[in-house]
Amino acid sequence: MPDPKILISIFAFVFGAVFASFAGVVAYRVPKGQSIVKPDSFCPACRTPIKAYDNIPILSWLILGGKCRNCHAKIGVFSLLCEIFGGLGFFSAYWMYGNTVEELPILIALLLTVFLFLVMAAIDFETHDIYNITLILFGVIALFVALWRIFAFGESPWSFVGGAALGFGFFGLVALVSKMLLKRDALGSGDIWLVGIGGLALGAFPLLLAILIATLTGSVIELAKIKLSKQDKESEIAFGPYLLLGMGVMAIYGNAILDFYWKVVL
Ligand SMILES: [Zn+2]
Repeated sequence: MPDPKILISIFAFVFGAVFASFAGVVAYRVPKGQSIVKPDSFCPACRTPIKAYDNIPILSWLILGGKCRNCHAKIGVFSLLCEIFGGLGFFSAYWMYGNTVEELPILIALLLTVFLFLVMAAIDFETHDIYNITLILFGVIALFVALWRIFAFGESPWSFVGGAALGFGFFGLVALVSKMLLKRDALGSGDIWLVGIGGLALGAFPLLLAILIATLTGSVIELAKIKLSKQDKESEIAFGPYLLLGMGVMAIYGNAILDFYWKVVL
């Protein structure tokens, strides 16, 4: 009899990939003012409804080679990545926080956050915008997480206050300075809110690590995109998705990374 935790983790991965697929639908339809429940999924190019057996997260993309079965229009690699990240996100959240009753509220908050982050990342890639409603939902979750960690886990409130102050203050300053020097907005106000709220949930030091992860992955991937596609260097970069990635990694693995850091590096 295999360890039930492994079985539930596999189930969590599948569940996460399914939710990520739905997050993609939400992110595609909401900016266009379309309903998220009707009609069923269809190919954006030829409008053919997608059959259930062609709508299996991750697998269908791989089997069809990222193309519509009917018209062979390309389905972006982003939707595949979104489903993989959703699976990994749910799997990791359960693996790290599916152990005790005290952790259960954190686990639920993490699952909601993974779903919300996927919607935000997809909308940001698509429209270079972060919707206020998604920031408000994130704020509610972040406030709950900070309060739970303070009152149930006995963590210091100053870490979370400091995280929010660091996020709003540092990114606000970067935005202000870059606007003065470059005469244009290098950071959207959505990014400032995102990092400020993220700091509230994560605490100050994990937020710094999240920004580091975001900057590293963002510069590597954006440089690769410029090299590969001769993309216009002046075109605006959506930094939000990388911030979401960094904060998501720290939300789930932050404690493990910090433990490793204190034990091994110091
Ligand atoms: Zn098609």
